[in-house]
Amino acid sequence: TEEALMQSEKLSVIGELAAGVAHEIRNPVTVLKGFVQLLAQQRTIPDPYYFNIMQKELDRINQITNEFMALAKPQAVKIKNQNLLELIFQVTDFLESEALLHKVELLVEHEEAAIWIDCEPNQIKQVLINTIKNGIEAMPEGGKIRIKVKKEQNFIYLLIEDEGTGIPSDLIERIGQPFFTTKEQGTGLGLMVSMKIIENHGGAVSIQSQENKGTIVKILLPLHK
Ligand code: ADP
Ligand code: MG
Repeated sequence: TEEALMQSEKLSVIGELAAGVAHEIRNPVTVLKGFVQLLAQQRTIPDPYYFNIMQKELDRINQITNEFMALAKPQAVKIKNQNLLELIFQVTDFLESEALLHKVELLVEHEEAAIWIDCEPNQIKQVLINTIKNGIEAMPEGGKIRIKVKKEQNFIYLLIEDEGTGIPSDLIERIGQPFFTTKEQGTGLGLMVSMKIIENHGGAVSIQSQENKGTIVKILLPLHK
């Protein structure tokens, strides 16, 4: 069945990722170990700078394990006929305060009153959260994120458009590869997980980006049958 297929796809991704996760966690752990040894030898009150670095390394371990768990955690995959607009508004409500904090405005643009797709709602929400967060992170001075939904014959387009830094053309091919990140605190898992989810829903993701202009994440999904 479709569900069993999604489950086995998921297991193979988890297998591929496990070695990478171990590797990614080993680096911050090594740094932490070094600092702890250093602190153990000191007789004076340690510089707060050390603790800042340790805190950052711990945050990184935390984020990597959280994102990996979101993928690996056995959750019942329940495909539902779902109004996509409802999911979008749940996510924009959820991210509202974070957006505000970064002077980012979230705008939803749609023509239809409802758009029905067959999906696992939590997974589609995860995709929306990942891509909108990337948009927020790409606009350090703030700006607008437009979430557009367009209905075609038997599929829909979901566009997440930001006015951020964009992606340099020599990096665009690496975007979505596990652990590829340009952020100090990034995990490089968000887009990869999002792409897998969309593929498992019979859809596709493409990214258009212009440096210093912005990025458009274009998601295609089949309409409810
Ligand atoms: P992370 O956000 O943890 O770095 P992602 O998989 O979400 O991991 O994204 C991978 C990389 O893709 C980011 O580090 C960034 O370089 C690039 N990227 C993704 N989305 C955007 C965007 N909207 N604008 C600019 N760069 C982006
Ligand atoms: Mg991200």
